[in-house]
Amino acid sequence: MANNKKRWYDYLWIWSIIYFSLGFFNILFAWLGMVDFLLPLLIALIGGNKWFCNNLCGRGQLFSLLGGKLGFSLKRPTPKWMSSKWFRYGFLVFFLAMFGNMVFQTYLIFAGADSLREVIKLFWTIKVPWGWTYTAGLAPGWVAQFSFGFYSLMLTSLLLGLLAMVFFRPRSWCAFCPMGTMTQGICKLKNKVRK
Ligand code: SF4
Repeated sequence: MANNKKRWYDYLWIWSIIYFSLGFFNILFAWLGMVDFLLPLLIALIGGNKWFCNNLCGRGQLFSLLGGKLGFSLKRPTPKWMSSKWFRYGFLVFFLAMFGNMVFQTYLIFAGADSLREVIKLFWTIKVPWGWTYTAGLAPGWVAQFSFGFYSLMLTSLLLGLLAMVFFRPRSWCAFCPMGTMTQGICKLKNKVRK
């Protein structure tokens, strides 16, 4: 008989909702997302597995819930190109370049070469004013700039994931999620070294 007993980490989708909601009140909470950024890498590096993806990813759980149980998905097969190597690695390179650019913008504020931009950039292009979530002086400018940039990345990837969820299978985003691609790459490398 299948074991349907829920574990505490089966509810991490709630954390995902809380995280994105907090960004509407105070942008500095965006830093909490670094846990979801670093933990999968750490688990893959130490354990050589995708335990994070399979058990701890609140975002993946949220897609399963919304697209699966709640029916917000057309559940069409995930297109083959989405999980192809060229697309997954191409998207990873693009994502890392955007991440690097965000870190550089943060550095410019830190170095006093630019001023704080209180906007969220959706899909790396659409600037949305987001100034109500930050009170000047609450944190150093670069800390706030990183928050705006990082939240932009997180929100953009959530929206892309939701779009993929609606039109295809609920967890289609996982086919090309940069974190998934990176952890998979680390696991492959680790297993090769072990052999
Ligand atoms: S591939 Fe990405 S979204 Fe999917 S479970 Fe892994 S980290 Fe989460």
